[in-house]
Amino acid sequence: MSSLSLADVYRARQRLAGRAAHTPLVASPSLSAHAGAPVYLKLETVQPTGSFKLRGATNAVAQLAETGVTRVVTASTGNHGRALAYAARALGIEAAVCMSSLVPRNKVDAVAALGARVVIAGRSQDDAQIEAQRLASEEGYAFVPPFDDARVIAGQATIALEVLEALPDAATLVVPLSGGGLFSGVAFAAKAIRPSIAAIGVSMARGAAMHASLAAGQPIEVEEVPTLADSLGGGIGLDNRHTFSLTRALADDVILLDEPSIARGIVHAYRQERLVVEGAGAVGIAALLDGRIAGAERAEEQGGPIVVLISGANIDMAVHRRIISET
Ligand SMILES: *Cc1c(COP(=O)(O)O)cnc(C)c1O
Repeated sequence: MSSLSLADVYRARQRLAGRAAHTPLVASPSLSAHAGAPVYLKLETVQPTGSFKLRGATNAVAQLAETGVTRVVTASTGNHGRALAYAARALGIEAAVCMSSLVPRNKVDAVAALGARVVIAGRSQDDAQIEAQRLASEEGYAFVPPFDDARVIAGQATIALEVLEALPDAATLVVPLSGGGLFSGVAFAAKAIRPSIAAIGVSMARGAAMHASLAAGQPIEVEEVPTLADSLGGGIGLDNRHTFSLTRALADDVILLDEPSIARGIVHAYRQERLVVEGAGAVGIAALLDGRIAGAERAEEQGGPIVVLISGANIDMAVHRRIISET
């Protein structure tokens, strides 16, 4: 099991102050009516890079910069790379970002616009990770993984501090789940503060590596296929060190959604909540709309507030328009 502590999360929050947003937690009357319990949305969409990944990247880069590191590298489906580029620029160091050719153009452009070196490598997240590790070993970059890293996990976990300070009686957290950095951090910190809280992970059915790995009892590879929730694509790493064991220990449930359901989540966010949300960010809403979130796992928490993490906004606007007009 990982050596993450709640003290690491509070230290991460200090590093994030002034660098990443303390995001709003807003009530959703329409989802509350649907769920039969108060539903709140935690809006990581308003981070300056459009996703929560700025938290973990900032926590890692700030620690590296303190030790004199001058160049960082990562592999990313987009949002982590963008966050790393932003954090590196803010802290005055260089960033390189390796991505697979499946990553949407808008995400590639966003990273380049932040002044990072972009390297396109292979057709999978795993290929991109191999290239990033090569730059780390051959060109002197410090590697910052997208999820399987204690500093990154502690950064993402700061979301739980904000949620429970605003809503101390939160009963259920609904968290998008891919590599599990977000889920592990948020569930770890939330349960350390409020042990009765339930943490539910949500992934797309197409290529859900963590779900498949949990079922197999160890990290396994799955085929990476295109999905509306493109930020949830990619494997968890066969040599996973932190997020597999944390997710296994902390998840009360992991839900899988099909593509039409994810589209309904995006449409609901837009029409009812007036939010532009990417597929990965909309899976929690989709799970609620599908009736997949029963509420708290434990009887004493039944009917208690449900907090849905809206993890990111970075959808290609042409794709967004198509989904809105077709649904
Ligand atoms: C990365 C990402 C996720 C999943 O985070 P993991 O830590 O890999 O599980 C969810 N939503 C968005 C928008 C992301 O960028």
